[in-house]
Amino acid sequence: MKEVKTPKKPLIYYYMIILLVIMFLNAFVFPTILGTKVQDIDYGTFLTMLEEKNVKEVQIEDNQILFTDNEEKTGYYRTGVMNDPDLVDRLEESGAIYGKVVVEEMSPLMNFLISWILPTIFLYAVGTIIMKGIMKKMGGIGQGGMGSTMTFGKSNAKIYVQSSEGIKFKDVAGEDEAKELLQEIVDFLHEPKKYEEIGASMPKGALLVGPPGTGKTLLAKAVAGEANVPFFSISGSEFVEMFVGMGAAKVRDLFKQANEKAPCIVFIDEIDAIGKKRDGGNFGGGNDEREQTLNQLLTEMDGFDGRKGVIILAATNRPESLDPALLRPGRFDRRIPVELPDLQGREDILRVHAKKIRISKEVDFGVIARMAAGASGAELANMINEAALRAVRDGRKQATQRDLEESVEVVIAGYQKKSRVLSDKEKMIVAYHEVGHALIAAKQSHSAPVTKITIIPRTSGALGYTMQVDEGEHFLLSKEEIENKIATVTGGRVAEELVFHSASTGASNDIEQATKMARAMVTRYGMTEEFGMVALETVQNQYMGADANLICSAETAAIVDQKVVEIVKQQQEKARKIMTENIGKLHELAKYLYEKETITGEEFMKILYEPAKIEGSFEKNG
Ligand code: ADP
Ligand code: MG
Ligand code: ZN
Repeated sequence: MKEVKTPKKPLIYYYMIILLVIMFLNAFVFPTILGTKVQDIDYGTFLTMLEEKNVKEVQIEDNQILFTDNEEKTGYYRTGVMNDPDLVDRLEESGAIYGKVVVEEMSPLMNFLISWILPTIFLYAVGTIIMKGIMKKMGGIGQGGMGSTMTFGKSNAKIYVQSSEGIKFKDVAGEDEAKELLQEIVDFLHEPKKYEEIGASMPKGALLVGPPGTGKTLLAKAVAGEANVPFFSISGSEFVEMFVGMGAAKVRDLFKQANEKAPCIVFIDEIDAIGKKRDGGNFGGGNDEREQTLNQLLTEMDGFDGRKGVIILAATNRPESLDPALLRPGRFDRRIPVELPDLQGREDILRVHAKKIRISKEVDFGVIARMAAGASGAELANMINEAALRAVRDGRKQATQRDLEESVEVVIAGYQKKSRVLSDKEKMIVAYHEVGHALIAAKQSHSAPVTKITIIPRTSGALGYTMQVDEGEHFLLSKEEIENKIATVTGGRVAEELVFHSASTGASNDIEQATKMARAMVTRYGMTEEFGMVALETVQNQYMGADANLICSAETAAIVDQKVVEIVKQQQEKARKIMTENIGKLHELAKYLYEKETITGEEFMKILYEPAKIEGSFEKNG
């Protein structure tokens, strides 16, 4: 599958350039070539020319003398009138003829034609030829597949032209549910009879919904690769134009084309760019254009016959921001969830992308997938690439398990920042902080085990970092588990306070996390006695960082705030208790981490649970 793009600069841009070029030519170039041929000379030169008998015809007017010379290619001259009583004698002597000097000046019409119209036509022609050349080149790439270059007239849309090397469903790992639903659409396009016989009709539109990077665009491309029908692809933002009405015209063009090419698939990526909720109170007319485009889309979707075999796919990260009219039956009535991959899915995605790089046979993708909990397909693809880059950097021929493990951290936490130098005191504080997290996590039940602690600063700004990896997959968290998580998050600051008797700014991210979790417990998970199962917040943009909006009175909001503070304080207290009970271990582990900078989960556990032996050997070493 090849993507064919036509340049997308507005026409006015080209006209402006043409106008500027013409103005330049008129000002500097044309006058010398086309300008009138009358040369202004002074009286002295005129007299010299007379003496040299180099004057042919003379016309004396009230304020100027026009004359021609005797050269083969006659030139026209002009000079002023002087008080010269000898002029008549001189003229006679030189043999000049009195006559009418007709200067062949261009008519104003010709002048206009030559200096404005001709260049315009010329430049336009050149431009068109160049553009055609570009189009031909692009079309040429797509040859061999069944499609060819298609232009949309007004809608310079981008079109996927099919070719044999297209993306197939097998290139999309995991997402079995989405693939199954899409397979049905592909099936319908191949064998419409089978569906007609039983009287089933396909949904006109299907909407791929899910967080960014989960493979929505990839799935749509795979549908194109599988379906063997023309595939029109355009991004929602490409409908948004500078001029009112252009977007709507593009939509009309798109559907006209689609109707002609049926059966076919139309894919509108990031449809939220045009499909946002229309808000009635918009008097400024600022969103007129978008609204018109959306209306046109709705009209077109209603207008065509589903049995003809035009199927419309769309993708979005923010389904809740879409206009409800788009989701009505007969439009995008099939919703295809494309979720973040689970453990198995992550492993499959890693394997698919690992095929593209040279990688050691020993690599255990299961372990990497477990480490990369919560990562999207795009992030996993990125991890594989990072691992390959790391291998190259270190002069290895293939990527290893270590490379992959490091790249998981790179994608999650940013690169190791080698140049950042922490003072000893700072390094010590960070060591205590991170061990604080790890210690609380380890001493509570229902906490994911610690797998790595490091105090090597990251480019993301983190000074240190404690990694916990869940053993299995977690879909539900109990109240106790969330509380334990909050306690773990507070552990860093608690350790700092206990040891250094002061707080540092290093805990800002922890504070944010703790607050978020506590707040969700109160407002969304119904985990407090005060409010029970009452929703106090709605979540917008669930895939895009989830902005929560309080939906309760100001009085209730105040109580919510109180409750949140209470929960966090309670967990912090719990963490402090655990920390005080294990203060010896805290010191021991922090010192060990301070020296090694990075320790594994096993090392951590060993020190934590084999007190005497490790302590002794540590003392000896230190
Ligand atoms: P979205 O459109 O959902 O934001 P994309 O389809 O653009 O995400 O995915 C970005 C990239 O991530 C893809 O090009 C692909 O390399 C990788 N990717 C995402 N999901 C998957 C998957 N399920 N299988 C294989 N690769 C994936
Ligand atoms: Mg996309
Ligand atoms: Zn922390």
